[in-house]
Parts: sequence; C-alpha cells; structure tokens
Amino acid sequence: MILTERELNEIFAHAEEAFPEEACGIVIGKPDDPNTNLVRRCRNLANQYHLDDPIRNPRDAKTAYIMDPKDLLRAQGEADAKGFEFVVLYHSHPDHEAYFSETDRELALFDGEPVWSRLRYLVVSVQNGKVSYFKVFGWDSIEKQFTAEPSAVFERKDQHLV
Ligand SMILES: [Zn+2]
Repeated sequence: MILTERELNEIFAHAEEAFPEEACGIVIGKPDDPNTNLVRRCRNLANQYHLDDPIRNPRDAKTAYIMDPKDLLRAQGEADAKGFEFVVLYHSHPDHEAYFSETDRELALFDGEPVWSRLRYLVVSVQNGKVSYFKVFGWDSIEKQFTAEPSAVFERKDQHLV
C-alpha cells in the first residue's frame, strides 16, 4: 500500500461528510514516495446524471459515483506540473461493504484492460455515517481481475509499517 495515515484520514473525513452519498477522489503523488501524496476531492455527479437521464443512469449518488471530469482534469494538470502520478482512486460505499463491485470494475476497465494499470482503488465502507473499514484493490495482470491487497499504512516520518 502506498498511503500514509494523513491521506487516509482525509479520505475518511470526505467519506463521512458525503454520507449518505458516495464520496470520490484521487490521490496524486510520486510513485513509491508516500510523503509526496496529496488528496484531491472530486465532485460526484451521479445525482445530476440520474436526474438528466434516469433510464441510462438508474442509480443516484447513494449507490454510484461519477467523478466530475473537470476535477479529474485539474488533478491531472497538477500531477503533470509536479511530476506526480495518480496513485489511488478512492470512493465510498454508504451502508455497504467495501467490495469491488461489477460497476467499479466496469469504470476501471477499458476493453478488458485497466485504464491506469498502476493505479490502486480504495473503497471505504461507511456505516451509519462513520467509516467502518476500507479495502484496497489492484489489477492482477495474470488473473485479469482486481484483487484485494494487504493494506499496510505507512507512518509519515520514518515510513515503517504499522
Ligand atoms: Zn463502488
């Protein structure tokens, strides 16, 4: 895993604020240097999409997330300017377990291959407005699927595992 406690706390705060809707965002940073990580929240447009076209978008923000492309572009621009990459994409599951759903899989894949192969996906379960636990998923290129990874968290200063 490639996050420190600081980013995790920021993600948890976002997930609890967004409850009962799904929160989503991106962590940018230098690959393999968690000290550089920055959390960037993205707006969840699922409610808007649902209202505009409920047939094509049957689910609203309580059970879906659609990241605002403007927020993603801004994060991409910032990452490019700093020499950073997208490290983790996160979203929350309000009153649901932290699993990687079929929809999550569809969003992460293009033509059966991951859109960003090095990107990890963090899913946080929020129960009754409080973060319960999280899981991290990465692409397994042999199994051709996303699998849960051990989620050790780095301490910010000396970076040993807790
Ligand atoms: Zn999900």
